[in-house]
Amino acid sequence: MVKGVREARWYEKLDDGKVRCTLCPWRCVLEPGRVGLCGVRANEGGKLVTLVYGLLSSIAIDPIEKKPLYHFYPGAPILSISTVGCNFRCPWCQNWHISRAKPNEELLDYVEPERIVELMKRYEVPFLAFTYNEPVIWYEYVEDTARLAKAAGGFNVLVTNGHINPEPLEELAKYVDAANVDVKAFNPVTYLKVIGGKLDAVLEATKLMKERGVHVETTYLVVPGVNDDEEEFRKMVRWHLEELGPDTPLHISRFFPAYKFSDRPPTPVEKLVKLWELARKEGLLYVYVGNVPGHSGEFTYCPRCGKPVVKRMGFEIYEWNLTEDNRCKFCGEPIKIVGKRWRSRSRWTFL
Ligand code: SF4
Repeated sequence: MVKGVREARWYEKLDDGKVRCTLCPWRCVLEPGRVGLCGVRANEGGKLVTLVYGLLSSIAIDPIEKKPLYHFYPGAPILSISTVGCNFRCPWCQNWHISRAKPNEELLDYVEPERIVELMKRYEVPFLAFTYNEPVIWYEYVEDTARLAKAAGGFNVLVTNGHINPEPLEELAKYVDAANVDVKAFNPVTYLKVIGGKLDAVLEATKLMKERGVHVETTYLVVPGVNDDEEEFRKMVRWHLEELGPDTPLHISRFFPAYKFSDRPPTPVEKLVKLWELARKEGLLYVYVGNVPGHSGEFTYCPRCGKPVVKRMGFEIYEWNLTEDNRCKFCGEPIKIVGKRWRSRSRWTFL
């Protein structure tokens, strides 16, 4: 068998050798020899196969803040892996060189799930992120690796567009500890026509993760002229408040020119600050300005006394004003953070 090719989960056999992939809301119907919209799931002889099982395009150790996750083991290192392909087609994709790449076993390294867990142990990094390109579309590898990592006492993180059907998500959520979900707009037409996805499905998947006990943070990348309308943003914030709760963190992120939007200017910082203030006024407790290092919007503020309890610069934490049990040092208010701050001397006992 060709490396990287495995029978996929989540499909139905149809007449004439066709198959329907039921993994994501596109539900691609594929004739023999055809590849789905994501570019990595294909009909081979009447079976749906994944073309990228274990074929990694990147492997790195990042700070967990880079995902971004600010309320999950702050300061932890996280082993981060990716393959290629995507079930969206955002014209501003920062990682287009992998999201638009085709599966190619000569260019990608085959790494078995067991090897990933070995690396976590060797480098003493108990956190694993499926990231850089959309993990939903390499579901089988994510599931197998996440299961092993969890059995070894590790934690799994998805950095995802949330474009997945409820059934496969229910199964995967058993192994997922935290997720950052991109809510890329709050207009279904923008989703369909510009991003290439279904807004409703993303919102449902995000809610489902939260209901299943996954620690969720969301990111809203503000792209000028696409999703920066204040009323659209306000609707998103109200949805976030109602469905995810006021203590679910929101990262409002700055767009920089990339891919097909290389000729557009970055998001003005004033715009980000305006949206940051709007989200806080609406009642969200943990709102962040992303991609503007040095801005005070990177700090966590105590919802009760308003003092900065965590100060960050980029991905670094430089001031920590929380007690051992994650309470504000100034007024004692509990701050919603999962796990303790990770320090360079922190050690983890693997099972
Ligand atoms: S995962 Fe890929 S093949 Fe399956 S429905 Fe989505 S885009 Fe189509």
